Amino acid sequence: MTITATALPQLPFDRSLAYINGRWVGGSTGQTRDVENPAVGAVIAAVCESSAGDVDAAVQAAHVAFHEGPWVNEYSGAQRRDALLALATEIEQHRKELELIESINTGKPIVDVRVELDDTVDLFRHFAGYADKVEGRHIAAQTNARLEGYTVKVPVGVVGFINAFNYPLCLLAWKVAPALAAGCTVVFKPGPQTPLTTQYFAHLLHETEKFPKGVFNVVLGGADVGQALVDHDLIDKIGFTGSVATGKHVIRSTASTASVRATSVELGGKSPGVVMPDVDLDRAAQLVVSGCMSNAGMNCNALTRLWVHRSVYDAFVPRLKAAAEALVMGTPQDERTQMGPLIDRRQYERVLEYIRIGREEDRAHVLTGGQPLEQGIPGYWVQPTIFSNVAPTARIATEEIFGPVLSVLEPFDSLEEVIRAERKSEFGLAAGIFTRSHSDIARFTRGMRCGTIWVNNYNALYSYLPFGGFRNSGFGRELGYESFDGYLATKAIIDDVSF
Ligand code: NAD
Repeated sequence: MTITATALPQLPFDRSLAYINGRWVGGSTGQTRDVENPAVGAVIAAVCESSAGDVDAAVQAAHVAFHEGPWVNEYSGAQRRDALLALATEIEQHRKELELIESINTGKPIVDVRVELDDTVDLFRHFAGYADKVEGRHIAAQTNARLEGYTVKVPVGVVGFINAFNYPLCLLAWKVAPALAAGCTVVFKPGPQTPLTTQYFAHLLHETEKFPKGVFNVVLGGADVGQALVDHDLIDKIGFTGSVATGKHVIRSTASTASVRATSVELGGKSPGVVMPDVDLDRAAQLVVSGCMSNAGMNCNALTRLWVHRSVYDAFVPRLKAAAEALVMGTPQDERTQMGPLIDRRQYERVLEYIRIGREEDRAHVLTGGQPLEQGIPGYWVQPTIFSNVAPTARIATEEIFGPVLSVLEPFDSLEEVIRAERKSEFGLAAGIFTRSHSDIARFTRGMRCGTIWVNNYNALYSYLPFGGFRNSGFGRELGYESFDGYLATKAIIDDVSF
């Protein structure tokens, strides 16, 4: 197999710089971080590493923009709506370059990145529509006719966002579109592996000339930069997406700052799927494989624990194997490619280590895959891998791997057994069931404690449905009205009308 190193297009901004207070600036650390094309493991950019001082400059800029600037204090909701609509159009007009850069920097198949771009444009349009619809309530005083009570919704303030690497542009839109629509100002840190489309986004936002300086800022780097943002006393809310371990650390940190702040954390998962005996087994096998292997398994809601009913287990497992082996891997910018590489060497080694752990499981065996894609090719490629007959408590069945690895559990006999086992899971992000039985669907959707439940499909998401977790998968909701409301705070006003 030959993987081609597609050239990065000419960028209309300096890819080494951060964006602070309406200007492109270098990091005052003087250090840079290499950014790779994971399909070939080659460096495509050296990006500045922001210092704590740079984070402070960005937060101060967002703080001034919030308390003194026109975005919050002069603009109407309709003006913010129009700014977001202009930004959506700007993104749409540059989507070809954005798609190519996103695909090169993440290794994601270009066909999948197009869906991400559709969603990104749609998200900005959707949340633009909320900007002029901020509503409070009138609440009559129950005992005193002289008093009028009502609530007013105001933007939360300066929001610090810390993003994961896996959906750089789309997850940015999940966060930034509702926050700006609500009237917040933002400091955004992308995942250190994938900063390029965040920088491009800042460039496009700047080009619209509709966002006053300081409203949106980008700082670049890894854990130290994220930590400086979390620790900054002028931050009013932290929105974090990443692993459970980092998320817990972020929660602890936000409680240690001089002023407490709102926090939402979108964390990992180990999402189960259930195949009941009454379904079209071929279709279900296709959906399970794409539910697990999409984005090479680097999906927080990937279907990675599969329950198959005993009566169809032996018929279903070969279908799964065939569906996984049919996945086309190759240069991500090739239209035919369905699965790309892992994001970096660290993730590649982590996934291979989990596959080694899986091989040591007593009764489990490798149904397909279990190896690097091909010896000698550059980049971070691992075969789509399926283990069958895995104990539900095995490490490969309970820990988030974040790679193309599916654990088909030992066969089950009753849906109650599945729900009982799943309610003990540390995670609660998503689940899926494949069945035609209305009563099984009802039992499953009522019984499961997780944020999203797919019935006879998997991974379908739309901008207006809230997304988030239970337990270690986090708290807070992204997408939908729930996320917009998360960037608003409520004031209660009590007025004595007889005065
Ligand atoms: P990660 O936890 O390693 O890093 C996430 C972000 O946190 C990065 O920007 C990183 O630089 C930053 N960071 C690291 N240490 C920090 C610190 N001490 N303080 C502040 N910030 C810090 O996660 P990752 O490898 O980038 O992403 C993969 C994880 O993200 C998976 O667990 C996946 O399930 C999860 N994820 C969840 C969702 C969701 O919506 N629930 C979506 C995408 C990814």
